[in-house]
Amino acid sequence: MISQTRDIVQRSLDALLEDEHFLPELQGKAREQAFTSLTAILSTPNHVHKSYLRVPLQNGRVDRIPAFRVQHNNALGPYKGGIRFHESVNEDEVVNLASLMTLKNALHDVPFGGGKGGIIINPRDYSDKELNLIAKKYVQYFSDVLGPDKDIPAPDMGSGEREMDWMMAEYKSIHPGYPYRGSFTGKSVVNGGSLGRREATGKGVFFTFRYMIHDFIHNHKNLLTKTDNIFAKTALTYEDKPLTIAVQGFGNVGSVAALEAHQSTHLQNKVVAVSDRNVTLRNEDGLDIPALIEFTMRNKGDLPTTEEQLREIDVKAEISDREDVLYLDVDVLILAALEDQIHGDNMEKVKAGILVEGANAPITTEADKFLSDKGVIIVPDILANAGGVIVSYFEWLQGRETQFYSEDEVFRMLYEKMQETLDTVLPQFFGDPFPLRQNCYIHSVTKLSTILYRQGKLY
Ligand code: NAP
Repeated sequence: MISQTRDIVQRSLDALLEDEHFLPELQGKAREQAFTSLTAILSTPNHVHKSYLRVPLQNGRVDRIPAFRVQHNNALGPYKGGIRFHESVNEDEVVNLASLMTLKNALHDVPFGGGKGGIIINPRDYSDKELNLIAKKYVQYFSDVLGPDKDIPAPDMGSGEREMDWMMAEYKSIHPGYPYRGSFTGKSVVNGGSLGRREATGKGVFFTFRYMIHDFIHNHKNLLTKTDNIFAKTALTYEDKPLTIAVQGFGNVGSVAALEAHQSTHLQNKVVAVSDRNVTLRNEDGLDIPALIEFTMRNKGDLPTTEEQLREIDVKAEISDREDVLYLDVDVLILAALEDQIHGDNMEKVKAGILVEGANAPITTEADKFLSDKGVIIVPDILANAGGVIVSYFEWLQGRETQFYSEDEVFRMLYEKMQETLDTVLPQFFGDPFPLRQNCYIHSVTKLSTILYRQGKLY
C-alpha cells in the first residue's frame, strides 16, 4: 500500500513534467530541479513525532505506549487526519495514511494539509478510565504541535466521538483562554460536533457512485457514446438499468451506504447482499436494510448469523461465508470493511462491474490493474470516502464561528463539494485511458505542485 501511493504520485509527477501546459514558465534545468523537489516533498512527511505515553493502569502496572503524530504536508492549510487506536499501528502506516490525507484534501479542495496519528494499543485491553487517561496523555505529549491552526486530529479506527471529546477537553485545560473548539473534529454534537458527521462517509460513498451512474452519464451521453474509452463503455451498460448492489462491511460506512441505496428506491437500486466479520446475507429480491441495522444496534454491531435470528426480525436471507459477498454476480460492490480485500489470489472471482472503495485501500495494486484492464470501474478511496473529512471541515468552521448548521444544510454542502470534485475528474476519466484513481491523483498532485511552486518551495 505504501509503495502504491508513492508509485501513483511519481507517475502523476512524470505526466506533469511532460505536460507543456503545466507551469510553462519552468523550462530546462529549472523545471527538472522543481520536479526533483516535488518528488522529495510529496514522498516524505514534514514531521514524524513519536512518544511513549506513560500510563499508570488500574492493576498497578505502568505501560509505556508508543504513539505517533505524523504531519505530512501543510501547503494547503493546517494538518488534518485521524488518530487510530489499534495494535497494528506502525510508523510506516501512519506516514502513508498522512500522505493520503494530503492528497485527499487537495482533490476535494478542503483547505487542510495531511496528518495522521496512531496509538499502538488494542482498546479492548483497557478500561474506560484507562482509555480516558491514554487519550489525555496523547494530547499532553503532543500538545505543542496540535491546535486549530496547526494540526487538527479526528477519530479513526478504534476511536470515536468519546475520545475526541476527552481530547478536546484536555487541549482546553492545557491552553486556557485560547479557542479550542476547532482543535479536534468528530466530537459529539453537544461538545461542538457537527450534525451529520457520523453518516457523512457512508452517504458520500453512495453519492459518488449514484452521481456517476445516474446523473453524470445521463448528462454527458454525447461525450460517452463518442469515445472508445473502455470505462465509458462499462458505464453506459448500467444506464437506466435497475442495479444490484452488494456491500462488504456493515459498520459506520457500510451500513449507511447500504441504507442510502435501500432508500433511493426511485433509482431502482436493490441491496442484494451485505456482510460483516462473520457472515454474508443475501436475498436476490433485496434485503430489509433498516431491520438489519436495528438488529446490529442491539447486538454489538453484528449481523444475524442464524436462521432463528433472521426469523426473529422477519428478514429473509440466505446465510453464507463472509467472503462470498466479494464474488456475487452483482452490478456494484461497495467495499467498506478493511484494506487488501481483493488481491492477486481472488481478483479473478470478482464479477461486479463497478467497485466503490469505502474503506482505505481495499484493492491491492495487482488486483487494481487486473480489474481496470478489464474495464471494471473502480471508484477509489481518495474520491469515495472523503465525506468524513469534508464534514470535519464544516465542523471546524462551525467551531470557529460558533454558528451551527442544520443536518440538511450539512448534507447539501457535502454533496455540493463532492459533485464539484466529480465534475472535475469524471470528464477526463471518460476521455483518456487512465483509471479513475490515476486521474484523481493527477488532479491532487497538480494542485499541490502549483501551490508549492507559487509558495516558492521548489528550488
Ligand atoms: P467499522 O464501523 O469498524 O466497520 C467495519 C465493518 O467491517 C464491520 O461491519 C466489521 O464487522 C466489518 N469487517 C471487519 N472485518 C471484516 C472481514 N474480514 N470481512 C468482512 N467484514 C469485515 O468501521 P468504519 O468506520 O465503517 O470504517 C470502515 C473502513 O472505512 C475502514 O477501512 C476505515 O478506515 C474506512 N474509513 C472510514 C471513515 C469513517 O468516517 N468512518 C472515513 C474514511 C475511511 P464486525 O462488526 O463484525 O467486526
